[in-house]
Amino acid sequence: MDQARVVAAVEKGLFIDGKWVDATGGRTFDVVNPATGQTLCTVADASPEDGRAALDAAVAAQPAFAAMSPRDRADILTRAFELLHERVDDLALLMTLEMGKPLAEARGEIAYAAEFFRHFAGEAVRIDGGYQTAPAGGARFLVTRQPVGPCLLITPWNFPMAMGTRKLGPAIAAGCTSVIKPAPQTPLSMLALMDLLVEAGLPPGAVNCIATTDAGAVIEPMIRSGSIRKLSFTGSTGVGRKLLEQCAEKILRTSLELGGNAPFVVFEDADLDEAVDGAIAAKMRNMGEACTAANRIYVQSSVIDEFGRRLAEKMSALKVGPGTEDGVNVGPLIDAAALQKVETLVADAVSRGASVLTGGSAPGGDGFFYPPTVLTGVPRDAEMCDQEIFGPVAPLTPFDTEEEVIAAANDTEYGLVSYVFTNDLRRALRVAEALETGMVGLNQGVVSNPAAPFGGVKASGLGREGGSVGIDEFLETKYIGIKM
Ligand code: NAP
Repeated sequence: MDQARVVAAVEKGLFIDGKWVDATGGRTFDVVNPATGQTLCTVADASPEDGRAALDAAVAAQPAFAAMSPRDRADILTRAFELLHERVDDLALLMTLEMGKPLAEARGEIAYAAEFFRHFAGEAVRIDGGYQTAPAGGARFLVTRQPVGPCLLITPWNFPMAMGTRKLGPAIAAGCTSVIKPAPQTPLSMLALMDLLVEAGLPPGAVNCIATTDAGAVIEPMIRSGSIRKLSFTGSTGVGRKLLEQCAEKILRTSLELGGNAPFVVFEDADLDEAVDGAIAAKMRNMGEACTAANRIYVQSSVIDEFGRRLAEKMSALKVGPGTEDGVNVGPLIDAAALQKVETLVADAVSRGASVLTGGSAPGGDGFFYPPTVLTGVPRDAEMCDQEIFGPVAPLTPFDTEEEVIAAANDTEYGLVSYVFTNDLRRALRVAEALETGMVGLNQGVVSNPAAPFGGVKASGLGREGGSVGIDEFLETKYIGIKM
C-alpha cells in the first residue's frame, strides 16, 4: 500500500525550467525493483534535444541565481534540509524500492543527504574575499569569489539521494545553476527531490533534472556546447576518464569522484573486536556497493585466523532479504550483472586457493541476492584485489611487516580511502601518512561526513566534496587590481 503510494507520488517527467515535461517523442524507460526484478514504474527518457533544453534553462537562470543573496540561497538549503527530515519515511521507502538497500540504511542516507544541505547553507554565507595593499605599496588587491557558472552534475545509483545533494548543496550555495542526471537504475529519489526543492523556494531553472538511458549521446553535446562551465561527476573511473577527455576541449572545471579499491589493514596490536566491527561497517554498508567499501582486507599473520573466525561469525548472522522487510541487514545487489560479477570474482579467488569461511554462493530465486561472504588466504593476484568487488564479500589476505602491507596497499591505481586498525599511535600516524589515499579511517570503518573533505587521489578522482573546501569547487577567484 505504502509502496504503491510513494512511487505514485513521484513526478516521472523531466524537470526543466521549473516545470515537469515529457521527453521528446514521449520516450520512457522502466525502473526495476532489484529485490523482485519487477518494474516499479516508468520515467521520462531524455533525448539529446531534451538535454539541450535543460542546459538552456540552466544557462538562462544563471545571472539571476548568482545575484540572489547568499542568505536567500542558504534559506532554500535550510528549508530543504528540514523537508528531507519531515519526509524521511516516504523518501527512504522510495530509495529502498529503487535501489535495494535496507530501510534503516535508506533512512540513514536521507539524513546524510540532508546534512549536505545544512552544511552548505552555512558555507553560502561565509564565501570570503580579501583586500590587500600590494607589496610595493600604492596599488590595492581586491579578491572576490564568483559562481563558476552553469554546472553539469552526474551521479551513480549506489547513493541515489546523497550523491545528488553532495553536489547540489555546494552548487546552490555558490550560486551555480545546474542540470543533474541521476543514474537510470535509481532516478526516483532525485525526481522526488526536485519538488521538495521547489517547495523550499528554489527558482525555476536553478536546478534541472533529466534521467536518460542514453547518457553518452545526451551528455557529450552538453559538455562540448561551450555553455556549461563545470562538470561534477561521481561514478566509475572508466567513465570519469572519458568525460575528463571531453571536458578538455572547452577547459571545463571538473570534479571527479571515482572508483576505489580500499585497503583495510589490521595490525596484531589492534583491538580485534573493534577491527571486526570496523570491517563490517566498511564492507557491508550498502551491501558492499560503495566506493569506500573495504576491498582488500590485510590482516597480520599472527591474528588472521582469529580475526577471520570472529568476522565470519558476525557476517553469517546478518539477515539477507528485501530491504523493505523488518530486520533485514543485507538487501539485493543492484542488478543481474552486479550479481554475476560478484560470483565470477569469488570463483576466481577460490580457484587461486582462497578458502570460504562463510557464504560464497548465491541463493538463486527472485531478486539479485548474494550472502555476506568471508574468504581467507586470498592471493594478491586474485582479480578481486585489482578491481571493485561492489558486493558483500570480504577477502582476507595475510601480511607480516608494516613495510610489506604499505607496499601492497598502495599497489593499485586507485587512492580513495584506506582503513588502519592499530593501538600504536606512532604506527597509526606513520602508516596513515604512507598510504596513497585521499582519506584514511583510523580505527573506524566509515569516514563519510558532510563536514569533512571527501575525495581521492590517483585514479580515484580530482577535487573534494564536503567540508569547507567543498564550495571552492563551485567558485572562481577573481582579483581586481586597483591603482590608488
Ligand atoms: P558509472 O557506470 O560510471 O555511472 C555513473 C553515472 O555516469 C551514471 O549516471 C551513468 O549513467 C553515467 N554515465 C555512464 N556513461 C556515461 C557517459 N558516457 N557520459 C555521461 N554519463 C555517463 O558508475 P556506476 O556503476 O553507476 O556507479 C558505481 C561507480 O561509482 C563505482 O566505481 C563507485 O566506486 C563509484 N562511486 C564513487 C564515489 C566517490 O565518491 N568516489 C561515490 C559513489 C560511487 P548510465 O548508467 O546510464 O550509463
